Amino acid sequence: MEAYKIQQHKYDVVVVGAGGAGLRATFGMAAKGLKTACITKVFPTRSHTVAAQGGIAAALANMAPDEWRWHMYDTIKGSDWLGDQDAIEYMCKNAPAAVIELEHYGVPFSRTEEGKIYQRPFGGHMQNYGESPVPRACAAADRTGHAILHTLYQQSLKHAAEFFIEYFAIDLLFEDGVCHGVLAWKLDDGTLHCFRAHQTVLATGGYGRIALSCTGAHMQTGDGNAMAARAGLPLQDMEFIQFHPTGIYGAGMLITEGVRGEGGYLTNSKGERFMERYAPNAKDLASRDVVSRAMTVEILEGRGVGLEKDHIHLHLEHLGPEVIHEMLPGIAESARIFAGVDVTKEPIPVIPTVHYSMGGVPANYHGQVMTIKDGNPDTVVPGLMAIGEGACVSVHGANRLGCNSLLDIIVFGRAAAAWCGDHVKKDEPHKPLKAEVTDKILARFDKLRHANGSLPTGKIRLDMQRTMQKHCAVFRTGPLLREGIQKLQDVWDSFRDVKVTDRALIWNTDLVETLELENLLIQAMTSIKGALNRTESRGAHARDDCPDRDDKNWLKHTVAWIDDRGNVRFDYRPVHLQPMTSDVEAVPPKKRVY
Ligand SMILES: Cc1cc2nc3c(=O)[nH]c(=O)nc-3n(C[C@H](O)[C@H](O)[C@H](O)COP(=O)(O)OP(=O)(O)OC[C@H]3O[C@@H](n4cnc5c(N)ncnc54)[C@H](O)[C@@H]3O)c2cc1C
Repeated sequence: MEAYKIQQHKYDVVVVGAGGAGLRATFGMAAKGLKTACITKVFPTRSHTVAAQGGIAAALANMAPDEWRWHMYDTIKGSDWLGDQDAIEYMCKNAPAAVIELEHYGVPFSRTEEGKIYQRPFGGHMQNYGESPVPRACAAADRTGHAILHTLYQQSLKHAAEFFIEYFAIDLLFEDGVCHGVLAWKLDDGTLHCFRAHQTVLATGGYGRIALSCTGAHMQTGDGNAMAARAGLPLQDMEFIQFHPTGIYGAGMLITEGVRGEGGYLTNSKGERFMERYAPNAKDLASRDVVSRAMTVEILEGRGVGLEKDHIHLHLEHLGPEVIHEMLPGIAESARIFAGVDVTKEPIPVIPTVHYSMGGVPANYHGQVMTIKDGNPDTVVPGLMAIGEGACVSVHGANRLGCNSLLDIIVFGRAAAAWCGDHVKKDEPHKPLKAEVTDKILARFDKLRHANGSLPTGKIRLDMQRTMQKHCAVFRTGPLLREGIQKLQDVWDSFRDVKVTDRALIWNTDLVETLELENLLIQAMTSIKGALNRTESRGAHARDDCPDRDDKNWLKHTVAWIDDRGNVRFDYRPVHLQPMTSDVEAVPPKKRVY
């Protein structure tokens, strides 16, 4: 193996990822006086958070009566009772303060007549324990993520956090079960860097790119999840993948639920507003799994629109050019560019598209990573934290409500910073690590760099994405999943025959994509095997052959370990059904009514 020279860096804390979660944690830690590094493979403001459109949920009650207990109830119900109620209480109770804090940092929210933060209704967010929709999504037009991410980056610069931009984190430095930092590759000059830290925070985002049609950015390859899995840690609830009902047909680009929040609606080939049949109360604003399934049923029963009858129409013509221009300008632009549609005159062709990963690295509401050890399901992994879409706290359970993810990344980014501020000692020295810790990581890197098989990375990736799109989508059945696992195992095995054409270390996008593909395969395999393993339907996981939710056997989180051959071992963690404090009552599992 070629001898790689490694540059050493020492920090109190290192954050991997500069999306909303990573940046909120980064500047929070820097503000507490900790020597903080933030490593990111893309420029911070290009992280996927920038694409979030609709808003961030908080019971501010600016436009109608609202309170955090209703928000908490909706989130538990939306999670189909798989969410941990202590973490959900923490998130919903802290939401108003977290959003006001963002406002003070400078996020340019849209305003009401009285100058308050504008809020719009969003799927599943209801008043008075599920009675009627409430405007709870705090929005900056339809570019909320953009506004938040830029503000957070400005705050991070103000607080003198150190940024390592376009550094690709390869693997975690683990010795004797403790995380000591991360090894990264600087993409523009090919150097390797060892970042030592007393707490390493994974904020690497979701893994939507396992699927063919997805609303996520190309950087969504779940690298942090894969790093944790390679370090022998489990991933949690990976079978729960949210489909957004309204991806642009053919392109995958998202059309925010905010469109329906502003009064947009769906129709089938008969021009019928079919959501009235599936969800008489919430109608077009029912939660995402419900709308996605309803659309899929319409298409499967021959009522889809278009030549192939394989998509659905989303209307906003009736809202008028003024509302569209003021509240949904980004949508009008996306529809024009990606569907060739003038939304003031005609409907947008849409189809359910992979949007969000509920699963990820198990973490508690401080952000500490957890594993199951000696029968304790909540054993903390020393030195490692996880926040954001890559973490599973689990506030979203089996299905996330819209606008609860921007909230999740802000609240738990903030919580992780607070925890480190209280527990990490400044300038504590780092003990030397055994050479084998980095040798192992470099051996994998070197092997892939010189991989000289017969299959290009892009071919293997497409095989994986096609398999996941067909076999692990909105509707699932045992036989379909089993066939998918067989195919995915072939794809996994074919990775041994991958060919990387570029051997250089400078701007080697071929090698970056190959490392990302290996990471994606880990997540595709745990997702599809988890989906076969869970013989019930809950939230986003709908099994046609097991249509009911089965609380007797499945009111528990899936915890999965994967080995380097793709074998997956399952264990389970109980759902926390009790809230954190006596400020609120537990919400016992109930049948869902929409
Ligand atoms: C189109 C779209 C619209 C959305 N709209 C909304 C909405 O309106 N409201 C809402 O609540 N949620 C919304 N969501 C969901 C929400 O935006 C995301 O879940 C959230 O922003 C994820 O933030 P994050 O910080 O966890 O990760 P990301 O923003 O994805 O950032 C991940 C970071 O990790 C870094 N990274 C990853 N791998 C590596 C590596 N190997 N080495 C170094 N760095 C690495 C990347 O560079 C990046 O900085 C939307 C999502 C999409 C896709």
